[in-house]
Amino acid sequence: MSRIGILTSGGDSPGMNAAIRSIVRTAIYCGHEALGIYSGYQGLVDDEIRVLGLSSVADIIHRGGTILGTSRCPAFEKEEGRKKALKVLDYHGIDKVIVLGGDGSFKGALALAGEGVDVLGIPCTIDNDLGYTDYTIGFFTAVETITEAIGRIRDTSSSHERGHIIEVMGRTCGDLALYAGISGGAESILVPEEEFSLDRIVQKILRGKNRGKRHHIILLTEGLKDPYKLANEIQNQTDVETKVTILGYVQRGGSPNISDRIMATNLGAQGVLALEKGRGALAMGFKNNRAQVFNLEEALEVKKTFSKTLYQELEMVSI
Ligand code: ADP
Repeated sequence: MSRIGILTSGGDSPGMNAAIRSIVRTAIYCGHEALGIYSGYQGLVDDEIRVLGLSSVADIIHRGGTILGTSRCPAFEKEEGRKKALKVLDYHGIDKVIVLGGDGSFKGALALAGEGVDVLGIPCTIDNDLGYTDYTIGFFTAVETITEAIGRIRDTSSSHERGHIIEVMGRTCGDLALYAGISGGAESILVPEEEFSLDRIVQKILRGKNRGKRHHIILLTEGLKDPYKLANEIQNQTDVETKVTILGYVQRGGSPNISDRIMATNLGAQGVLALEKGRGALAMGFKNNRAQVFNLEEALEVKKTFSKTLYQELEMVSI
C-alpha cells in the first residue's frame, strides 16, 4: 500500500477536479491511501495535508477550478523550501506525489524526484503548451469558451459593420487562437509561431468589405502586440471601425467539457496504475488518442510543435 499525495499547482484549468476524483477513487480501489495537499507546493511546505476519502471527491467532476486550491510557491524553488517539504512528506508517510499542472509545476515535481520521491505529472493547463502530449486537460474547454465568445461578438460586429480583435491566452503557444479560430470561424489569427503581417490582415478586411462582409474577427494571442494599437492601425488603413475585447480569465473557468472530463478520468486512473509499477519521475500524456506513460525529464524536453496544416487551412477558409 502506498500513501499518494495529490497537489494542483500553477494556473488552474477546467478538468483538474475530474482528475483529482479519478486519482482518489482509483487509488482507493487499488488499496492505497490518497492525501490532498492544499494550495500547491505552498501547502506541501506549510503542511496543509488531509486524507481524501471516496465521498470527499463526490459531486466535483463537473466543477471548474480545483477543490485543492493552487498557488505559485517561490519557496519551493529553493533548497530550503524543498527540505521542509520533504520533512512534511516523511511525517505523513507519503511516498508518491501526483502533480497536476503545467511545465513549471512539472519542474517542481522533477526537483522533488531529485530528492528521492516518486512523482507523476498530469498535464493540466488551458494553453496546451506541453510538447510531449497532444492535448492538456482544460484546453478544449477553453477553446469552447473562446468559440462561444466569438459567436457573441460576431453578432454585434455584423450588426454594426465592425472589425473586432479578441485577445486570448496562450502566451508562447498559439493553440488556443488556432483551434478557437477554426471552430469559431475567425478571419485572422495572430500567434507567436507565425510571422505577423498587418498588410495581409488589411487586404483580407478590404476584400471582405468589397464583397459585402459585415464583420471581421481577429484572434490575438496575449503578449504579442498591444490590441488597442493594432485596432488603430487596422482602422486607419481600412476605414473599418475596429473594437477590442480582452477575454482574460473567463477562459480559465467553467465546467469542463466532455473531452476534458474523459481525458482527466483516463489520465488520472492510468497515472495511479503507472505509479504502482514505475519509480522515479513519470508523466502521463495523451498521445495518438490514448493515455501513455512518459519519463518526466524527457517529456519536459520535447519541443511543442505548431500545426502548420491547421494554420494553412484556417488561412484558406478565411480568404
Ligand atoms: P505552471 O505549472 O502553470 O506552468 P508555474 O510556472 O507558475 O506554473 O509553476 C508553479 C510552481 O511550480 C512554482 O510556483 C514553483 O513552486 C514550482 N516550480 C516551478 N519551477 C520550478 C523549479 N525549477 N524548481 C522547483 N519548483 C519549481
